[in-house]
Formats: sequence, structure tokens, C-alpha cells
Amino acid sequence: MLLTPHTIVGVAVATAISNPLIAAPLSFALHFAGDKLPHWDFFSNTKNGERRVGWRPLAVMADMSIGIFIALTFTYYALWGLGDSYLALNIFLCGLASVLPDALTGPYIYTDNPPKFCMWIKNIQSKAQTQAPLPWGIFTQLVVVAVSVFLIWRSIL
Ligand SMILES: [Zn+2]
Repeated sequence: MLLTPHTIVGVAVATAISNPLIAAPLSFALHFAGDKLPHWDFFSNTKNGERRVGWRPLAVMADMSIGIFIALTFTYYALWGLGDSYLALNIFLCGLASVLPDALTGPYIYTDNPPKFCMWIKNIQSKAQTQAPLPWGIFTQLVVVAVSVFLIWRSIL
């Protein structure tokens, strides 16, 4: 799945479950569930070499920037809008946990000698992927985003 929907799922978990000790590991686990859902992303049907060249790294950076922007916006909203520093911390941690598997896979994609730990996460991730062609592979992610936004809206907006 793209990083942005993963992040929004993490924010939704944080707003629904107030205990970070439950919410953050759940956000991490839901990353794999999200990737199990048939989806399209920038690495769909590509070999590793193709992932480092052309438009793909730029698209990943744009996706990552949007994800960071969303997570930080909700963190600041909880902090300054709602005055709830505990919720802000929970959103921040869950946003991070929700994309952590992809962040740890990064060195496998972008370096020649990735640490063993990254290979381990990468192997788990490749098994957990279900690809879908466009446009359906985006549609499933829009549904995930819609459900997550609904949960966020019910909890804190
Ligand atoms: Zn992933």
C-alpha cells in the first residue's frame, strides 16, 4: 500500500485506542494487513533495480511527504487544537509505527548492502503483498482512507 493510506490508518488507530502500548503495536500490525489488501503502489510489478531510477523514487518521496504532513498535522491539532498532549504523542507514535515496516525495507531498495534485519523485514513484506491492477488497486486504498477518516472524524474532529 502507499505510505499515505498506511499513515492515515495509524492516525485512526491512535484516535480510537487511547493507550499507545496497544495502539502503536496495532498500527504496526495493520501495516501488514493493509499490504494484504489487493492494492497498487509505485513498486507494483517492478524488479528491485527499477525502483531506484526514473519517476519512482520521486513518487515515493512525494507520498512520504504527504504521509509525514498528515501525521504532523494531526499531532499538532491534538496538541494545540485539543490541548491533549497524550493524544498527540499517541498519534505521532502510531503514525510512525504504521509505516515502520516500509521504512525498514528502505535500505534493501536504496542501498547495495542492506543490514540483515532489513532483509528479514523485506522477506516478510514480500510474502504479505497482494497486488491489484489500476484502477482497482487505488480504489481499495481510497476505501481504507474513507473508513479511517470516518473513525478520526467521529473521535476528534
Ligand atoms: Zn509495506
